[in-house]
Amino acid sequence: MSDFDYDLFVIGAGSGGVRASRIAASHGARVAVAEEYRVGGTCVIRGCVPKKLLVYGAHFAEDIHDARKFGWDVPDCKFDWPVLRDNVLAEVDRLEGLYGQTLDNHKVTVLRTRATVAGPQKVRLADGTELTAERILIATGGWPHVPEFPGSQHAITSNEVFHLETLPKRIIIAGGGYIANEFAGIFNEFGSKVTIVNRGDTILRGYDEQIRDRLLQISMTKGIDFKFNAPFQSIEKNDDGSLTVMLEGCEPMQADAVLVAAGRVPNSRGIGLEEAGVELDDKGAIKVDERNQSSVPSIFAVGDVTDRIQLTPVAIREGQAFADTFYGGKPTVVDYQNVPSAVFSHPPIGAVGMTEAEARNKLGSVRVYTSDFRAMKNVLAGRNERALYKMIVNAATDQVVGLHMIGPDAPEILQAAAVAVKAGLTKADFDNTVALHPSMAEELVLLK
Ligand code: NDP
Repeated sequence: MSDFDYDLFVIGAGSGGVRASRIAASHGARVAVAEEYRVGGTCVIRGCVPKKLLVYGAHFAEDIHDARKFGWDVPDCKFDWPVLRDNVLAEVDRLEGLYGQTLDNHKVTVLRTRATVAGPQKVRLADGTELTAERILIATGGWPHVPEFPGSQHAITSNEVFHLETLPKRIIIAGGGYIANEFAGIFNEFGSKVTIVNRGDTILRGYDEQIRDRLLQISMTKGIDFKFNAPFQSIEKNDDGSLTVMLEGCEPMQADAVLVAAGRVPNSRGIGLEEAGVELDDKGAIKVDERNQSSVPSIFAVGDVTDRIQLTPVAIREGQAFADTFYGGKPTVVDYQNVPSAVFSHPPIGAVGMTEAEARNKLGSVRVYTSDFRAMKNVLAGRNERALYKMIVNAATDQVVGLHMIGPDAPEILQAAAVAVKAGLTKADFDNTVALHPSMAEELVLLK
């Protein structure tokens, strides 16, 4: 028996923290996890899960419309935001319960309180109790970044958007990344007037240019407005509760809500890390090595607080690798190559591997194959919305080094295709696979 209260003390019960706690406990460690808000973290409580449910809810707007072309006599129907909001929040409650249960089942002590680092092997709870642990794992995630400008307190972030009392008739979304494009699609389908306002002229930096352009064009066709190179100057609240938004170089705009989606910063300040000697980078991310170890040997970190790749499945992998390495006798290093990603916009995007520009810079000689098509369902529905699939191939080896897609179900198709890219398969391997007809995915094996 060690002299410590616990073998492992985890701060933060989100995706990375829960996985690390559960796996370390299943390997026999005595584990406690502290969570000051709700078990499940950003993804489950106010991120991926409720967002995806809203995406499904939003898509019914198009499905109901298109159903008429498929012979269904659909009466005019209207959308009721509080019904969807409350159903989504109830589902979040259910999932939170399941996460708590999983931790209990693995005999992890769950402390529903704030905990801070009080030394290399000591934590302090909100009531002043101090506990010791051989190792401390920081899994506190990230927090929405809100740029400073007068009236920024009138804006909401992705933390609040799931709880809106009423559906805004006009919403301005600041930012051009994941959250901005996903919520633009959601609110637009619900009938809100959506304007995306971006400080630069690029949406979804890091995604392939042609795919980004296609989303921009489809979004504009659907009625979403974009303002580029228009940093926020101020927001004023009017007597009727509406907001007047001043942007550089633009006329004042009126809105009922402003959603700021300008990136997320690591949640690392004010929890005793710097006092304990843990090194942070200039964005506040905890610097860790490939074993997730910080500059203090007994303190480790996984997930968004380390700002490596801000994606739930990556945090889960890091938590698993940490627990297997230190408690399971199975040293594991996370492989960050070819991590697939998706944007749940309308229509969604899926991508894995290098963009065309990255491949040209890195490999020199590449072959690019594209399929620009209208999904069968969209043709019958009279929906003039084209999907675009793009394959990037290393010309020297024939290896497929990137796949980029926008169109119906792109993330579902991409996840399966990512296995082939990860495995290093060649264009010839794709070509050797017989098409599954009729499907959209068959385009991947028919690229000429
Ligand atoms: P993103 O990093 O995707 O996008 C941030 C946007 O805000 C960019 O357009 C950026 O512009 C702009 N921006 C950054 N700083 C400022 C600033 N100071 N003032 C004005 N604009 C600014 O962030 P999100 O908030 O959309 O999402 C946060 C993270 O959460 C994502 O990076 C992603 O990792 C994760 N996420 C993943 C999802 C998924 O997997 N589907 C869904 C939602 C979130 P510029 O391009 O000029 O830098």
